[in-house]
Amino acid sequence: MNNLFYFNITYKCNNKCKDCCSHNTRDKNKRTVSVDDIKVIDDKFKCTESDVWVISGGEPTVADNFDEIINYCLSKSKHIILYTNGRNLHKINAECFERIIVPLYGTESGHNDYVGSSMAYSETVNALTNIIERNPDKIELKLLINDLTAMKDLLQNDDWQILKKNNRFSISRVIKPNVEIDSNVLLFTENLIMELLSEDKTVKFYDLPFCKFSEKFQNNILDNYDCSLNSKYRIICGSQFGKYTVFGFNKRADYYIDCSTCNKSIFCTKIMQRYYCPVLTTKKCWIGTE
Ligand code: SF4
Ligand code: SF4
Repeated sequence: MNNLFYFNITYKCNNKCKDCCSHNTRDKNKRTVSVDDIKVIDDKFKCTESDVWVISGGEPTVADNFDEIINYCLSKSKHIILYTNGRNLHKINAECFERIIVPLYGTESGHNDYVGSSMAYSETVNALTNIIERNPDKIELKLLINDLTAMKDLLQNDDWQILKKNNRFSISRVIKPNVEIDSNVLLFTENLIMELLSEDKTVKFYDLPFCKFSEKFQNNILDNYDCSLNSKYRIICGSQFGKYTVFGFNKRADYYIDCSTCNKSIFCTKIMQRYYCPVLTTKKCWIGTE
C-alpha cells in the first residue's frame, strides 16, 4: 500500500472565507510546517517514489518556505498535489504538480463575497484559464456550493465555457453546523454530476450523504459502479515536530442511525472525513482522496 502524506504547511492565507477553520485558527495559532518536520515523517515511513505528497494550508503559496518544501517533496516523488485558492497560481510552476485543486464558489460576486476579497475571482479564474488552455488535466476544479444561485449563475456565464474545458471536477458543499441539507443542492449536484460524466469528465463528490440523493441517481451509481472498492493509499497527516495521524479507510459514516449498517457508505461523503471519496468517470469508479 502506498502512503499519501498531507501537510497543512501554514494557517496564513490571502483570503478570508466565511466558514474557514484556518482563517478562524490562524490568529491564535502561528504554526507552520518546516522541511525538518517533513523529514521526520519521511524517515519514519521510508517514503518511496510511488508515495503522494499533498500540500495544503491555509494558503500554502503564501508560506515563506513554500518553494523549499515543494523542492524537498519533488526530490522524493513526482506525485505532488497542491491545494490552493488559485490567487497565486500565476506565480508558481504548475508543472511541478501532478494535480492542483482550486475551489470556486460561483460567479464573481458570489465567490468574492464568500472569500472576502474583491480580487479573488478574477485572479483565480485568469490563472485557471491559462492552465486549462494548456493542460485540461492539471487542475481539479472544486465547485463548492455555499450560495446555490451563485453556483447556478456561474454555469450560465462565459467563464464557464472556458472552465468546463477542464477534465477534472469535484463537487461539494460548504458545511454549516446544524443546517439540514437543502434538497435543491442535492438535485443540482446530481444533475451536474451526470452532465459532467456525460461529457467524459472525472468527477468526485463529497460532503453530501449519498442516501439523500434521488433514488434514480443512487441506482444509477449503484448499478454502474463497483461498490466493493478499497483504497490503495494509507493517509498520513503530518504536523509540526514530526507529529502525525494515520487515517484508515473503512470508517463508517455517522450522519444517521442507519449509517452503521449502510451498504451505500462507500459512496457516502462521510468517507471524506477520513480524506477518502469516490471518483467517477463514465467507465469506472475508484476510491481517491479528497
Ligand atoms: S482560501 Fe482556504 S485557507 Fe484561505 S480563508 Fe479560504 S478556505 Fe481558508
Ligand atoms: S452511510 Fe449514512 S449518510 Fe451515508 S448513505 Fe448510508 S445512511 Fe446515508
